Amino acid sequence: MQIQENIILAPYTTFKIGGPAEYFALVKTLEELQDALLWAKEKEKDIFVFGGGSNLLIGDNGIKGLVIKLDLQRLEFDENKVIVGAGVNLAYLLNQALENNLTGLEFAAGVPGTVGGAIRGNAGTYGVAMGDVVTAIRYLDKNNELKTMAKNEADFAYRHSIFKVNNYLIVEAELLLERGDVAASKALVQERLLYRKNNHPNQPSAGCIFKNIDFREADIEALKSKGIEVGKFLEHKKIPAGYLIEKADLKGKTIGQAQVSPQHANYIINLGEAKAEDVVILTSLIKQQIRDKFGLQLEEEVQFVV
Ligand SMILES: Cc1cc2nc3c(=O)[nH]c(=O)nc-3n(C[C@H](O)[C@H](O)[C@H](O)COP(=O)(O)OP(=O)(O)OC[C@H]3O[C@@H](n4cnc5c(N)ncnc54)[C@H](O)[C@@H]3O)c2cc1C
Repeated sequence: MQIQENIILAPYTTFKIGGPAEYFALVKTLEELQDALLWAKEKEKDIFVFGGGSNLLIGDNGIKGLVIKLDLQRLEFDENKVIVGAGVNLAYLLNQALENNLTGLEFAAGVPGTVGGAIRGNAGTYGVAMGDVVTAIRYLDKNNELKTMAKNEADFAYRHSIFKVNNYLIVEAELLLERGDVAASKALVQERLLYRKNNHPNQPSAGCIFKNIDFREADIEALKSKGIEVGKFLEHKKIPAGYLIEKADLKGKTIGQAQVSPQHANYIINLGEAKAEDVVILTSLIKQQIRDKFGLQLEEEVQFVV
């Protein structure tokens, strides 16, 4: 394992934004990870770990300390059980599961990034998420001790897990999949990929910038009076952030080279040379307008490291 200095992070993110890491290590095994953590401890450097960089906004001044890109690639199938390293790409995992006649990961179709990032943020689509297929997680705690946590201890909720709160480092996970109808699963995956291709922007982004907002049935009338029709959102009891941004007439709003996607209002896209600062200013403008117009508070889904 090599520790490099002054490595620009933008190419490691889907946003293509971000300054240099003071120190940078690409880590492929648990031993390399432990060496890197020991190095940082001895040098008294902070640590930042990431996977696919698809849910990240890294600041223009970069990140001080040691930035670790986790590339743990273990992948083993044992009947319906899968052991998967944190660095395994979700798309690769989905394909390999289907090759092994296992279904249950259709929600991951078109979601970029790694298993580690997906567990931390409980990534998902169509009301199904990573926490629904995970049964146990191996992680390093704050003392860098290797531990195992059962799914029910992980506090999975909408785009949430205990790993967001405690900053534990996910090393690998155990999943339980199904022997379902593989042909139907493949067809659904293709359908969802096509939907994304036609309806989501293809410029660099970090996916949905804000979380959707919960509402209760008791709020419906009050929301109506502000021009928000929640009828079609009753099933999931969440108002899509993109719907609010569109209603606030912010599609296409541009700061510097960051733009609210004209195609999907909950995406901020990088028009080419966007700075993190452009994205930060644009997100605060959106939050302010949604607060002023609808009295609702948006919360970032993307992790800002600025
Ligand atoms: C075009 C596009 C579409 C997207 N669509 C969706 C979608 O439909 N649904 C959805 O939920 N998300 C979506 N996302 C967001 C993103 O794909 C997911 O959040 C993904 O799970 C992030 O994984 P990652 O490896 O890229 O995480 P990273 O961006 O690398 O990291 C995200 C956070 O997780 C932490 N982290 C990463 N790995 C670990 C680890 N091993 N242990 C502990 N912490 C870790 C990082 O420190 C960081 O705080 C989309 C993103 C893009 C660009």
